[in-house]
Amino acid sequence: MARRSRKRPYGEPHPELDVDAVLRGGARRESGADGRRWNVRSVAGSAKSYTCPGCQQTIPPSVAHVVAWSEEHLFGADAALADRRHWHTSCWRARDRRGPRR
Ligand SMILES: [Zn+2]
Repeated sequence: MARRSRKRPYGEPHPELDVDAVLRGGARRESGADGRRWNVRSVAGSAKSYTCPGCQQTIPPSVAHVVAWSEEHLFGADAALADRRHWHTSCWRARDRRGPRR
């Protein structure tokens, strides 16, 4: 399902996380209205369900959605990736209009 890619968008000093490397390799970059830059990856579906931070609703397994993580993180790129969030695609697109709920 997940295509492996040898391309990495930037130098990565910690390649030991295979799944994360695949995630990162297929990510695109987006800028938010808040000026932060995000890595965003579309996924066709996951084995488990997640809670979308945009609407606090569950993303059921096997539902296409996006995974996003900030490029800027206090503890570095690996921490940012570990802190990634699963969003409904529509919630991700709408986030700049209503902002995340915290
Ligand atoms: Zn949502």
